[in-house]
Amino acid sequence: MTRIARWFVLCLLSASALAASPDGIVAVSQPAAAAAGARILAQGGNAIDAAAAVQFALNVVEPQSSGIGGGGFMLVHLAKTGETFFVDSRERAPAHASADMFAPDGLPMTFPLASTSGLAVGVPGTLLGVDTALRRWGTMKLADTLAPAIELAEYGFRVNRFLAEDIANDDGRTQIQPETAATFRPGGVPLAEGDWLVQPALAKTLKLIASKGPNAFYRGPIARAIVKAQQRGRNELGDAGKGRMTLADLAQYRVAIRQPLIGHYRDWILAGMPPPSSGGLTLFEILKLLERFPLGDVAQGYGFGSPKTLHVMTEAMRLAFADRAVWIGDDDAAPAAQRALLNPDYLTARSALIQPNRRMDTPQAGDLTPWHAVQPKSARTREESLHTTHFAIVDRWGNMVSYTTTIEYTWGSGITVPGYGFLLNNELTDFNFLPGADPAEGNPGANDVAPFKRPRSSMAPLLLLKDGKPVAAYGSPGGATIINSVLNVTLNLIDHGMTMQQAIDAPRLSVTNAIGKMNCEGGQAFMQPPFSLATQDALRTLGHTGLGEAGTDGCRETIGSVQAVVVDPATGTHGGAADPRREGTVIRVGH
Ligand code: GLU
Repeated sequence: MTRIARWFVLCLLSASALAASPDGIVAVSQPAAAAAGARILAQGGNAIDAAAAVQFALNVVEPQSSGIGGGGFMLVHLAKTGETFFVDSRERAPAHASADMFAPDGLPMTFPLASTSGLAVGVPGTLLGVDTALRRWGTMKLADTLAPAIELAEYGFRVNRFLAEDIANDDGRTQIQPETAATFRPGGVPLAEGDWLVQPALAKTLKLIASKGPNAFYRGPIARAIVKAQQRGRNELGDAGKGRMTLADLAQYRVAIRQPLIGHYRDWILAGMPPPSSGGLTLFEILKLLERFPLGDVAQGYGFGSPKTLHVMTEAMRLAFADRAVWIGDDDAAPAAQRALLNPDYLTARSALIQPNRRMDTPQAGDLTPWHAVQPKSARTREESLHTTHFAIVDRWGNMVSYTTTIEYTWGSGITVPGYGFLLNNELTDFNFLPGADPAEGNPGANDVAPFKRPRSSMAPLLLLKDGKPVAAYGSPGGATIINSVLNVTLNLIDHGMTMQQAIDAPRLSVTNAIGKMNCEGGQAFMQPPFSLATQDALRTLGHTGLGEAGTDGCRETIGSVQAVVVDPATGTHGGAADPRREGTVIRVGH
């Protein structure tokens, strides 16, 4: 049996939610939001209708991760035409943004201060993105898809462990602004697991949008409240920390509908997110750099989690992230040679730098003619928490949605729009803090701040196709680690013959810069098979860093939260899988 056939047989036998007929499947990181999507499917809505309902519900029940104060990328696959689109509702910089705004005196602001000031707030896109998708491909009215979220906000829901943990470990973000504190720390006491959370201001906002449409948000009273809220700075930053968004910026916000970036790995096709995300380009580059290695071949030492496999994965990540740091940004604003990253000749030469038995010195970004090789400027590095969220839906007709949606850091800017009950993003801190543009060095400053530009993202909603047919849609949160979470799952499916649920459960490896400090998962019972101590020691011997002392278990991280739907091309059967790293939930809707 071929590896691919084995995967699908395993899919059919797996314990993940499987349908006997092509029913609708919703896979979401939070059960109440999953139920919102399932309700819409049960009412006869399609995947796009259900996605709208899930997004609005997540704003209520996972407010620390995504919502109408943020942005995202929604992959939509249409069964009838076979077309795939991305709805790009990424936040944009306001007209008055400038390349030096995060380093006004030549010194970069610190991330904790910059990201909790109004300066970090990008013009939000989520509501217009969802509305655009509904108008194009949905069958329901915006108001109908808002109904489950309005109920959850008005009548409340039970705080789950993950929301309670994010309130408890909030880096102070739910405490800086009184409106945010009042919701999540009523009377100064952080909400705990099992507490009931009612959000009347948010319910009012969602009702207003249901009756007046997105104009209430982009031109009406909510717009005025957003502009005022983001004028809030941090004392430590003085006026430099105040947001620069105006009513005109909100009125001028536009969603982009993008064609997918197409990648190839072995005999599979991948449809991924193009710039302004690095998600598709960097994922596809890593896959291409790895393609010459016999991953999955246990006899040659390339089984799952073996030292050889983890070594070549690390080296490929280091090379691709070196390229990402210099070449990738919003190419609407800064057209660059970024697609040259997937040029076969470039990739062959780049892959030749990976040696199976030797760790490379810190690589530079590659030479993408016509620019010369440039020294990669060290990109802002910070710990990536489990912010953002991803969900996937397939409806009974085979339409699919794979949607990564965010307010950037957990709790975004921490700024709640007073009276309206939703959080504003801090997405503009995804730009370079120090401008990188340097014509003499050939650095295009691809991710420097500029008016109306979208900050570079890592979000990577993905559609996997076999023989031209979609077989899986998935993605993950986790900042730059997103690319690696999606990579790990893809290799697990294609090379290691896992079911989707096994591919999600298995421990992940992530390296997000050229220097190459490894982060790897372990310590949770479902993460099988674990990266062994012997494997970790072998990697240390090769010179890899980030694993701690020899003989100890250096794989203790938790990375990402992957939700997925799968389609068996032979039978048309739909399935789903969700991530135990959060309260991942799969619901099947029969008809
Ligand atoms: N700001 C992040 C990005 O766009 C959001 C995703 C995440 O942090 O999980 O890459």
